Amino acid sequence: MTRIDDLPIRDELRGKSPYGAPQLDVPVRLNTNENPYPLPEELVRRIGERVTEAARELNRYPDRDAVELRTELAAYLSRTAGLPVTVDNVWAANGSNEIIQQLLQTFAGPGRTAIGFEPSYSMHALISRGTGTGWISGPRHDDFTIDVEAAERTIAELEPDVVFVCSPNNPTGTAVDKDTVLRLYDAALAAKPCVVIVDEAYGEFSHQPSLLPLLEGRPTMVLTRTMSKAFGAAGLRLGYMAADPAVVDAVQLVRLPYHLSSVTQATALAALEHTDTLLRYVERLKSERDRIVAELTALGCEVTASDANFVQFGRFDDAHAMWQRLLRHGVLVRDNDVPGFLRVTAGTPEENDAFLEAVRASLKERD
Ligand code: PMP
Repeated sequence: MTRIDDLPIRDELRGKSPYGAPQLDVPVRLNTNENPYPLPEELVRRIGERVTEAARELNRYPDRDAVELRTELAAYLSRTAGLPVTVDNVWAANGSNEIIQQLLQTFAGPGRTAIGFEPSYSMHALISRGTGTGWISGPRHDDFTIDVEAAERTIAELEPDVVFVCSPNNPTGTAVDKDTVLRLYDAALAAKPCVVIVDEAYGEFSHQPSLLPLLEGRPTMVLTRTMSKAFGAAGLRLGYMAADPAVVDAVQLVRLPYHLSSVTQATALAALEHTDTLLRYVERLKSERDRIVAELTALGCEVTASDANFVQFGRFDDAHAMWQRLLRHGVLVRDNDVPGFLRVTAGTPEENDAFLEAVRASLKERD
């Protein structure tokens, strides 16, 4: 049998594992930061209509520039994120992972480096590796906020080409305040031209406003978003970014032609017609998230302040043993290898009750 390592794969991929959370068949799955609410029936019907229309023209390639979709995404950001943007500022792709990949293909790659502040979203490092970009792990404080002084020193010393700022941060839930982002941006650009990617995949769940207004006057700051979380459409694979029009033009150099299928574009447009309903689900999830924080704290857990649709909790001598105990109670959470901590996604009120009950029982078993 041929194994991967028998193949002439790139040296930096040897011995590495693909990204992936275990998908186990258990009653309560709160491990991948999905939105627990299925799309409302009226939206499902609207998707049917829009996709049917698109199907009549599937013999043709899709709109390569996704102009209608980008126009609607720009309108959504202008309405909700505190800075008017237009179609020229917005670009869309198959998930924000693909947006990040296109940005690294354009602005990083072999001989260049990217820095992120860990623990953070592991795909930032993985996409860096996949694009031949060197990875620098930047520091955080014990409370998981970014250690700005240390970050400024690291940036001055190593002069990265790309800086990742994940706000709210996955897996900790930590929002980054705008002064921190500006200090990182100034430090990065003092060294040399640099692209700062603000990953706001969980932006809609935050207690604080979007960082989008920081883009004004900063042509190398980019904000990435997704319809996977707030829009409850992880299966759709639609991510987008806002940036200076020159950045949008630059990623055209690496995007595959017709990368966004007409079915995807039609579905995303239907979802955008129902933004208000979907944002009401977000409000529900935010209050459930706050309830989980309060109840875990009352149970004696150490809980990281969360601005996302998930909560990091601990502190356990053996977090993996706790993960297994919760699994035995039918609840799947995520062990991100952050020492002492686990992460739970906010589900429906019933799922969250089941999770909290499982924590209560598991803590007793441990004692
Ligand atoms: N950024 C962060 C911080 C994430 O947690 C995720 C998904 N887990 C993504 C980006 C990618 O999301 P998608 O590709 O589904 O848009």
